[in-house]
Amino acid sequence: RKWGWSLAGELRQAAARDPDRTAIVDEQGAELTYQELLDRAERLARALRAGFGVQPGDRIGVLCRNHHGLIETIVAATLLGVDAVLVNTGLSAAQLGTVADEQALRVLVHDDEFAERTLGLPAELHRVDERAREELIAGALPGDDLRPPERDGRIIVLTSGTTGTPKGARRPTPNGFGPLVSIIDRIPLHTRDRVMIAAPIFHTWGFAALQVCFALRATIVLHRRFDPAATLAALVTHRCDALFAVPVMVQRLLEVPAPDPRPPLKVVAISGSALPGNLAHRFMDVYGDVLYNLYGSTEVSWASIAGPAELRAAPTTAGRPPHGTKLRILDDAGQPVPTGRVGRIFVGNEMLFEGYTSGAGRESRDGLLDTGDLGRINADGLLFVDGRADDMIVSGGENVFPSEVEDLLARLPQVREAAVIGVPDPEYGQRLAAFLALHPGETLDPEAVREYVRHYLARFSVPRDVVFVKYLPRNATGKVLTRELRRYYG
Ligand code: ATP
Repeated sequence: RKWGWSLAGELRQAAARDPDRTAIVDEQGAELTYQELLDRAERLARALRAGFGVQPGDRIGVLCRNHHGLIETIVAATLLGVDAVLVNTGLSAAQLGTVADEQALRVLVHDDEFAERTLGLPAELHRVDERAREELIAGALPGDDLRPPERDGRIIVLTSGTTGTPKGARRPTPNGFGPLVSIIDRIPLHTRDRVMIAAPIFHTWGFAALQVCFALRATIVLHRRFDPAATLAALVTHRCDALFAVPVMVQRLLEVPAPDPRPPLKVVAISGSALPGNLAHRFMDVYGDVLYNLYGSTEVSWASIAGPAELRAAPTTAGRPPHGTKLRILDDAGQPVPTGRVGRIFVGNEMLFEGYTSGAGRESRDGLLDTGDLGRINADGLLFVDGRADDMIVSGGENVFPSEVEDLLARLPQVREAAVIGVPDPEYGQRLAAFLALHPGETLDPEAVREYVRHYLARFSVPRDVVFVKYLPRNATGKVLTRELRRYYG
């Protein structure tokens, strides 16, 4: 057996070809070369095997922010043929307990800041904090006894749980370079580029970014927490070519002064949630035509990409599927809908997940997976994602997409961000409730908000409730937690 396309195989290859290349730079400026990163991951793998007896097929949980320790742990797991369960750092202690139980975790490697959340976990689950991780690495015997495992260690990504308990989704191990080429092909990234990954690596998008970086032997800049000013400073200091982020991060970058001169970015790639309507132009006017919007999910990986030219022409588009990906819009009967009409988005590619760890799957048709999203393709072949089918509001028998109303509200100069949900209504079935976070010092009259929406959209799209909040509750990937908003209504 050879080292295949697992993360371990990719890192081994990068270390063999470019051992002295800086692999990771953290916020303190500490650097690790590709060879050092591999050495540390190998030591950790040996120590985990010797200390806890982990075997191929076991599962290790990883509850870490973006730093070298997270990457070392995932690689160590795949070196052993062990599955790495990437735990969302936003989970509560109770959710963490459920995940540990459902995933039958043997070991949990966690950052110190999450120690308290691990206190209720069963005693037989080995907990490894940051110091323990360092001690394992330092104490491991050197050697070359790591052989390609009989089975590939899988990466299990947890869905964010915005719709309930997070589900574990098994990511496939790619059979070749195809999936990576499909992304590199559409985004101008190059070997040895310098890339900041701000999107959490525990999420499919951040993890995909990590794979791309290993394949390119890129220098990866990591900060544990996203801070807009610190991110901009790092992009300048480390002369980053690319930034991988989620949309809300890009929004935050615009709220702090732009550095002068600007960072030499060629690419800002975002994914994970919808791109707010007015963001693409505003961002590109300040940082240049460098924005790439990728649509995807834990289940389908990336499904379509819009580049700067497409975003200039159609600021909310998710673009077109990359090479090797099929994307269809189907009606309820499974038939393709005409151009411009809304239907359910189905996707087929080499990167579809292998099912949830619970054993459940997702509906598919002719090898294409149901994304659960509604969208349409216009006459130019551009995809527009309208949102989750489950989030669609039916008010007085009419369908309303929250995204349409949110985008409109976000254009009000006083509004920093907006979210719209449907709440039960005795008369209309559902009515719209808009949650608005205003810029500091701004005020708005609810009736003026309704009047404004009435001017642009149909009557049934007007939010009857307008609620002012300080900020919108978001998960670690920046997605608005609608279940928290619903709590407002008891
Ligand atoms: P959970 O199912 O537990 O709520 P999650 O599915 O939200 O978790 P992800 O798999 O990251 O976690 O979310 C993917 C969803 O995010 C997509 O199905 C889509 O609704 C939305 N999304 C992602 N990228 C884009 C994009 N570029 N434009 C519009 N929507 C997007």
